[in-house]
Amino acid sequence: MDKQENPLAFNIDREEREPQEYYDRIKEKFAQERAVRLDYRPEGTAQFTSEFSGALEKYAIDPNVAEATPRAPLDDTVECLFIGGGFSALLTSVRLRQVGVESIRIVERGADVGGTWYWNRYPGVACDVEAYDYLPLLDEMDYVPTRHFAQGPEIYAHCQAIARKYDLYELAVFQTTVTSTVWDEDAQMWSITTDRGDHIKARFVICANGTLSKPKLSRIRGMESFAGHSFHTSRWDYEYTQPDLSGLADKVVGIIGTGASAVQAIPRLGASARELYVFQRTPSSITLKNDWLTDPEWARKLKPGWQAARKALSLARQELSPEQQAKRASIPREEKIRKQENANIDAMMQIHERIEEIVKDPVTADALKPWYMLMCKRPCFDNDYLPAFNRPNVQLVDTRGEGITEITEAGPIFDAKVYELDLLIYATGFEVQKTGIYNQIRGEKGVELNEKYQKNGIRTLLGIHSHGYPNLFIMGGYQATFLFNLTDVLQTQGDHIAGCIDYARRNGHHSVHVTVEAEERWVQEVIDNRGKTTRSEDCTPGYYNFEGEFQRRQDGNYNGSYSRYVAHTKAVLANIEEDFVFANR
Ligand code: NDP
Repeated sequence: MDKQENPLAFNIDREEREPQEYYDRIKEKFAQERAVRLDYRPEGTAQFTSEFSGALEKYAIDPNVAEATPRAPLDDTVECLFIGGGFSALLTSVRLRQVGVESIRIVERGADVGGTWYWNRYPGVACDVEAYDYLPLLDEMDYVPTRHFAQGPEIYAHCQAIARKYDLYELAVFQTTVTSTVWDEDAQMWSITTDRGDHIKARFVICANGTLSKPKLSRIRGMESFAGHSFHTSRWDYEYTQPDLSGLADKVVGIIGTGASAVQAIPRLGASARELYVFQRTPSSITLKNDWLTDPEWARKLKPGWQAARKALSLARQELSPEQQAKRASIPREEKIRKQENANIDAMMQIHERIEEIVKDPVTADALKPWYMLMCKRPCFDNDYLPAFNRPNVQLVDTRGEGITEITEAGPIFDAKVYELDLLIYATGFEVQKTGIYNQIRGEKGVELNEKYQKNGIRTLLGIHSHGYPNLFIMGGYQATFLFNLTDVLQTQGDHIAGCIDYARRNGHHSVHVTVEAEERWVQEVIDNRGKTTRSEDCTPGYYNFEGEFQRRQDGNYNGSYSRYVAHTKAVLANIEEDFVFANR
């Protein structure tokens, strides 16, 4: 199977297509577009809210199930407790099972495992990472995905299959939100309470609440007054739309946002709604998605362990050969940056060209062109998105960076025009990489984790361990590596966490606690790898660069390579006595 050409791999060794003035002019336009957006919303991340109370409470409700059935509160003790039941919990649990841990409890806000894939059921939901890489544990599960890019229901079913195979449903509790996680110094145990009145004690706690799990809404004047129906993409109301979207045939629909969720939903909405208005603030970069059904012949020939072999090969390929390294080293730094930027601009201009080829109305085509470096925002892949704007019932409302700032009883207003809608969909994203959403995590001396981070910046070892929080492990948070294929990161973290817990158990230690020195070493490592350019700061605002807000250099992801992150997790485990203090009760 040939691989899709990676649009994110910029070849800096190629001939440049244009003289330098051309690239400089485009960079100027990028800077102007960025400035427009920063001027409109200097408040940065504060432009959003994820605290849904009062009239906004409905945006948090799970439309997939009826209200939680009453149950008696739990008052018991488990060995390992996961806050969250998505891939983080599943992948780590499997490794814990493999080293003999029996007592595992998943506490999950949704009514099942699956995390993102439980919540996000909007039409067209699919993963943009090749399924043979994204779906984890394919060797263990003896499963081959049905297509190159798996759709949401297949991934959700895979999560359920993992939970069944590894007996993770036994102790799990659903429709339950952890509200506090407190280190009990006398008992040397974590004490967990939930919104269902549970009091659970756990020796090890794993924060597995996901990277993009708490929906957020843009704070828009008058949004509470909208009289039509409305919901967030992650809380899709199929009772209203009907599973085949036939309920929209006589409806005027609006969608706010054009990020990855909207890009997948819009073509399906366009094909079903009487009218669709797309309220755009910043266009996404759209690249073709080279999707196909898995060839059964190819699948049949796969040998046991094929996914592990594929991953090992991919990891090895990420390393430059000595010749490539020598060539790169011979190019002066400024020249390298210039070449990379120019290659990036060429990639972006190819995206512009495709828009011109596909979208018939030149004004709409122009408005759909993204003016920023590729990877400033999450790149999107969909073959049906651009053609959707050729439909007579689909209209792009380009707010030119301003966004929708007012909603009336009838619908959103832009340029003094009220768009009267039956249904308004918010595709406005999620809180990003927050540890302890819905939850307070109090470690030694009662210090809350986010208060510690606020005061001195994020401080962890590998993004997983934080001093003052013994036997607590964080997944999907900052100071860990960033990779387009998130499940690889989560598996790396899960392997490491299971390794730490296994070590403690085998050696008769009750608790494992990272030292201040190890934490400081990693903070410096993160700072050293934050990059020496201002590329992220120069990007148009979005969640990748904290909406343009100033950040301490340690308060982000570890930007050394993924392979180096993997090596660090292994090295820490191999020398575990150096970086941790172990205690017995
Ligand atoms: P995003 O945060 O990516 O997008 C939010 C969108 O809302 C942006 O287009 C933003 O514009 C827009 N917006 C916010 N406020 C307003 C406003 N007042 N008026 C108009 N527009 C507004 O959220 P998504 O849910 O789309 O995606 C989140 C992440 O989830 C993705 O980046 C990806 O990592 C993951 N995902 C992955 C998928 C996959 O694998 N295919 C599919 C879906 C999601 P602006 O850009 O100007 O801020």
